Amino acid sequence: MSQTVRDWPQFGQGTLLAVHAHPDDESLSTGGLLAAWHQAGGRAVVITATRGERGETIGDEFSHLEGDHPGMAAHRHGELRGALDALGVNHHRFLDAYAEPQSRWADSGMAWLDVAGGTAGATARIPAGSFMAADQDAVVAALGRALADVRPRVVVTYGPDGGYGHPDHVRVHQVTMAAVRVAVERGAAPIESVLWRTIDPQAAAVTAAALAEQWSQIQHEAIGRSGHRRALRPPMPAASALPVVEDDLVRVPIAAVTQDVISALQAHRTQVQFIRRVDQSPDSTTGNPLVAVYALSNGVLQGMEDHETYRANPPLAPAKSGSVN
Ligand SMILES: [Zn+2]
Repeated sequence: MSQTVRDWPQFGQGTLLAVHAHPDDESLSTGGLLAAWHQAGGRAVVITATRGERGETIGDEFSHLEGDHPGMAAHRHGELRGALDALGVNHHRFLDAYAEPQSRWADSGMAWLDVAGGTAGATARIPAGSFMAADQDAVVAALGRALADVRPRVVVTYGPDGGYGHPDHVRVHQVTMAAVRVAVERGAAPIESVLWRTIDPQAAAVTAAALAEQWSQIQHEAIGRSGHRRALRPPMPAASALPVVEDDLVRVPIAAVTQDVISALQAHRTQVQFIRRVDQSPDSTTGNPLVAVYALSNGVLQGMEDHETYRANPPLAPAKSGSVN
């Protein structure tokens, strides 16, 4: 049960494909990996399952978009383009572009199961025309066409819980694993590994302490410069039920692309209400893992760490294996 967090061999070689549920997930969940992969010379591709039609918005400026699904979709597509530019993503498609017959899959929405704990689930009624209402085989087939088109070496998505339980995230995980299995069996794409975004429990406690320190510094600041309707709220305490991890964790350092990820998050103006870089104090010996702090619509202060942690399925080949590409 020993746990190893190690560097990732052959980083930035070939194509990385990130499969996500909504515009903003690519930046919030895997922004550092995408930007670092691009910076290392690789090709970074994002597929997004929905246009985030049922997302909340921040501030009076965008409140007219809530309930206006076409308006929200168009606006968030614009934000997504800005974020993808900032991250250096080379190619993007919505998943339904690969659907046969032609389809359009909308954000399914979600219900909070535990707001304080940050876990969500499906709404009581699944909306017609939503991603959750779409036929499973049709969605897997669409992603299969995407995999054959993009031919990724590495695929990245959420873990089985979708990160925090949003039904679209959970379904993206399931569909991705199913489509990858088929693609590998048929030799349709040279996929070596699927990465699930996760948390490194060894680093989480240090991050929680650094976040609490940031909170003590900024909690009194007013953030309503442009009519934001919510104030910041304190960070969540370190989760007690962290994912169990063994020796298949991959740590991707992202400090070198911090500004790219911040710019990407800033592009999602309907979703991110506050973001600030954390200055690394030169006399710090503790090694503050935070490179930025930010808040989404719920105002809860969150931290961007100097690395992103992924679980690799199957584990990536050891660096000494001698294999190239
Ligand atoms: Zn999402």
